[in-house]
Amino acid sequence: MKNYKKTLHERFSNYGANAKLWMRKCELLLPEIERARVWEEEGFGSIYEYAAKLAGMSKEKVRDSLRILRKIEDKPGLMKVAREKGLRAIRPVATIAEKEDDKFWADKAENMSVNTLETFVREIRHEKSGHMTTLIEMDLDPEIAEELKKIKGQNNWNELMKQLLEIREKQLEQEIPETKKTTARHIPSKISRYAKAKTNGTCCFPGCLKKADVLHHTDRFALSKEHNPNKIRPLCKAHHDLAHRGLIQNEDLPPQYWKIQKQPDKTDMKFMIDQKVINYKKTKFA
Ligand SMILES: [Zn+2]
Repeated sequence: MKNYKKTLHERFSNYGANAKLWMRKCELLLPEIERARVWEEEGFGSIYEYAAKLAGMSKEKVRDSLRILRKIEDKPGLMKVAREKGLRAIRPVATIAEKEDDKFWADKAENMSVNTLETFVREIRHEKSGHMTTLIEMDLDPEIAEELKKIKGQNNWNELMKQLLEIREKQLEQEIPETKKTTARHIPSKISRYAKAKTNGTCCFPGCLKKADVLHHTDRFALSKEHNPNKIRPLCKAHHDLAHRGLIQNEDLPPQYWKIQKQPDKTDMKFMIDQKVINYKKTKFA
């Protein structure tokens, strides 16, 4: 029974992988087909009809593929990744990549998951756009709204919120657990509770509102052999991944100072450890 299921699964995965591969080949031919207007000669009304009837591609997919390919056609590095991994893998960088940094982006698209790559691009865009103030809309009960307005009085909201946050911070500080020196990776519950409480379980990277998936040791547990409550930060999957690629700057400072950097600091001990772990995972799961 088990063998039968295994065989079925193997056949299905094998066909699926082939179907994807051939679909990728079709997608990559679209720009040329469009330029040469091949469909006309073959008696089709449009490239959409042509692609739908011959390859089962939706109109949306044709349009999307053409749009992305037009942007990367002059970038051989990204084209290579598109051929190997499909357009999905390079979509996040299609509009940000320039000819001069084709190699840089190709390398990222080759090695990062789509989720991590999207986050990385968003961060870099954000940095380019600079600092802004933020307007937050809140659904509040009338009594709470009244009370807040009262204590704000003639001052501004920013001042009041700062005060409230400081009170919260002081309260948390009173509960800081002690650093635990140990060889056990498992984070003691007191420490993990404290680490999560600071952001209420949200990823601590500036601007990210995703739920944290991981408690991350900014000093790398393999190096420090300790659980220091102030060096353990909650991170979402993508930001955790970026951290281990050495792409978060100022990781030793509080998260409000964190920034995405385009290149890792290769002289950092942490970077060397992270590389080892990444390579280990590659050989293990490849
Ligand atoms: Zn995040």
